[in-house]
Amino acid sequence: MRQADQLYRFLFENQHIRGEFVQLDATWHEVLARADYPAPVRNALGEAMAAAALLVATLKISGSLTMQIRGEGPMHLLVVQAFSDGSIRGLARWRGEILAGTLSRLAGSGQLVMTIEREEGERYQGIVPLAGEHLNEALQLYFAQSEQLPTRLWLSADGEAAAGLLIQALPGEREDEDSWNRVSRLGETVTGEELRGLDVETLLRRLYHEETLRLFTPSPVQFRCTCSREKIINTLRRLGHAEMSGIIAERGQIDVDCEFCGARYSFDSVDVGALFATDGFPVESDTIQ
Ligand SMILES: [Zn+2]
Repeated sequence: MRQADQLYRFLFENQHIRGEFVQLDATWHEVLARADYPAPVRNALGEAMAAAALLVATLKISGSLTMQIRGEGPMHLLVVQAFSDGSIRGLARWRGEILAGTLSRLAGSGQLVMTIEREEGERYQGIVPLAGEHLNEALQLYFAQSEQLPTRLWLSADGEAAAGLLIQALPGEREDEDSWNRVSRLGETVTGEELRGLDVETLLRRLYHEETLRLFTPSPVQFRCTCSREKIINTLRRLGHAEMSGIIAERGQIDVDCEFCGARYSFDSVDVGALFATDGFPVESDTIQ
């Protein structure tokens, strides 16, 4: 039976190849309920959500992975943040008319930025030019350029589900030298419909029936936003007291809406006064609430 919003991990026995598979239903609908995305932007965001859920699970860290696409095209920003506890959130921004097309046409020339943050504060960032027609190609290029483990992934999203399959070659000697090529080639035959619609057992049997696989107990994935009043305050502090007092004088209060989840944070003149009473406090460098 198809069980969505679960991250499945599997291993090709004796081949030092691992795999992951995810289908997002409820998680994806939480994101879709918060913005009316044109279909091509929606599908790109869904693919990015599936990819981030897969990639954060390959990291042996407590923390988060943030995938950003910044482009000059109609879809000028896409941000997905996935946490090691299975939480994920995402959004995309676009302008003008959106025509169906490839990622390069949607986002234009731009960058793919991957940021990995450990809970202890350590941070790694990798930036590659946005290349390829689809997100999986851009990500594969990122893996190749940042000299990480050979990784292939296949992604698909529509208005109902977002799904992805990942395989990764682990260090170590393979029992069968050709296994990585074979597993990659078989992965290439997967269709979007299969990714979104099949249960994990059927999908793996269909693709890899000649391989010996070990499937592990899945872990849940869910939409969750990490915004908080505290984080918004840190951002507002950077605006400065004068700027904020000006807005208060004009509008009576300052409203900040979290674009990931729609939560609204309001500040009046008393809040702003209190905020700057502790002036000189260090501010967080994170720009994503
Ligand atoms: Zn939020």
